[in-house]
Formats: sequence, C-alpha cells, structure tokens
Amino acid sequence: MNSKNVVTIMDIGFVNKTKEEFLRDCVKPRLENEEKCFIVTANPEIVMKAREDQAYKEVIQEADYVIPDGIGIVKAAGWMKQPLKERIAGFDLVVDLLQYANERGLSCYFLGAQAHVNEKAVAAVRKEYPNVTIAGNHHGFFDLDDLSIVEAVKESNADIVLVALGLPRQELWINQHYHHFHKGVFIGVGGTLDGLAGDVPRAPKIWIKLNLEWLYRIIKQPSRIKRIGKVFEFMLRVLVKKS
Ligand code: UDP
Repeated sequence: MNSKNVVTIMDIGFVNKTKEEFLRDCVKPRLENEEKCFIVTANPEIVMKAREDQAYKEVIQEADYVIPDGIGIVKAAGWMKQPLKERIAGFDLVVDLLQYANERGLSCYFLGAQAHVNEKAVAAVRKEYPNVTIAGNHHGFFDLDDLSIVEAVKESNADIVLVALGLPRQELWINQHYHHFHKGVFIGVGGTLDGLAGDVPRAPKIWIKLNLEWLYRIIKQPSRIKRIGKVFEFMLRVLVKKS
C-alpha cells in the first residue's frame, strides 16, 4: 500500500483510509478478482500484545491490511501528529461486507464464537441478508492445528471468511493456514459474531459518536475491565514516546 495511506504506531502499519475508501480500493477489488487477503482489525490490545510477543507482531505485520478498530488507535495517531482519517470498526466493516455480499450473492464462512452464538449469528445473517450464501460455519473452540477445520473452510470456497476466535488466536489461525487458500477475504473479527447474534448488542449510536463504545462494552461485559489496563498502558507509551 502507498506509504501515505499508512500510519505506523509501535511498528504496526495502519490503513489510513475511510471505511468507504478501504472497501472500494482494497477489499472489493480482491473479492471481484477472487484474490485472497488477510485483514487485521486492530485495537490497542492487539498492538500491546504485538509489542510483548515478537512472533505475534510478525503475524500482524505480514497481514495485508491492519485497520484501526478502536478509538485509542485514532487518538494515539493524532498525538503522534500523523492523524488517521477515521476509526474503522470491525463490526461496521463486517456489516458493510455482508450488505455487499447480499447484493452480489457472495458466500461467507462463519468461524468462531461459542457453538450456540455461532448458530444464532448465522440465523440472523440468513434472515437479514437472504442472498448471502452460507458457505459453512463452525464454533471457535478447536485446536489451531486442526486441519479438518482448514479443509472445511477451503472446500467451502467462501468469498469472505469471518474468523472470530479472539486475539491472538484468530490472527494466528489465519497466518498459519493462509497458504492453503487460493481465495477469500479473511478477517479476524473478535466479538462480531456475538454482536450479529444479538448476544452482545452494539453500543447505541450516541455512545459510539462520543467515542465511548469501549465504556459501554465494559458496562455490558464487566469481565472486560481487566483488559482496560492494556489500553491505558498503550496510550501512556504513545504519550511518553511523543514527549
Ligand atoms: N472465542 C473463540 N474461541 C476461543 C476464544 C474466544 O471462538 O478460543 C470467541 C469468543 O467466544 C468470542 C470471540 O472469540 O465470540 C472473541 O471475543 P472478544 O470479545 O474477546 O473479542 P474482541 O472483540 O475483544 O476482540
């Protein structure tokens, strides 16, 4: 990607495009040409994990696109005087992709989340996007080395593969098995299947607008509070480096 379209934070190069530009310039051409690509939806936790684990950092650096999913990333970029055009939430990207797949009759594989959440997410997609072909689905609690999962995804010939195994498992799985695939837009999507299933509702628009989606998620899932320390550490490191 042209370097003016990339903002680097802690050795991770983020796509500096709006969601619309990213879809138009990067994702849709891959789908049209049946080429594969690997998208990381990175929040501060992913950047911190990459900082602590060199092998994981290399996995993120090898991805085709790392998009800034998290207001913390956008703020950090601003403090570093290399502003990002916008936050691209993984959830929003997935919704737009499903809409596009619905218009074009593309297929999607749903890999990850608990079995009942996965089924619910697939049912919701069937209802909301009836022209999307469900290429296949599988829950996310399997061994990363399990080649039967890789075979199933490969045989499905899916145009889009949503990989919701949480970090770092989703990025590791894609990186480890990517060479088996000839086509497919592979995206690590975190809790997106829980969102599609309606189990973890997306924050109301006003919270998102006020950049408080992270707080809403903590209120809804108090177990997430443990993770917030990493986000603060990330922000602090960016601030200290800048000063
Ligand atoms: N998950 C999974 N397999 C695992 C660990 C997690 O399928 O071994 C799923 C989990 O059920 C959830 C998603 O991965 O659906 C991760 O969600 P989380 O909220 O951790 O992701 P975030 O949005 O914070 O990246």
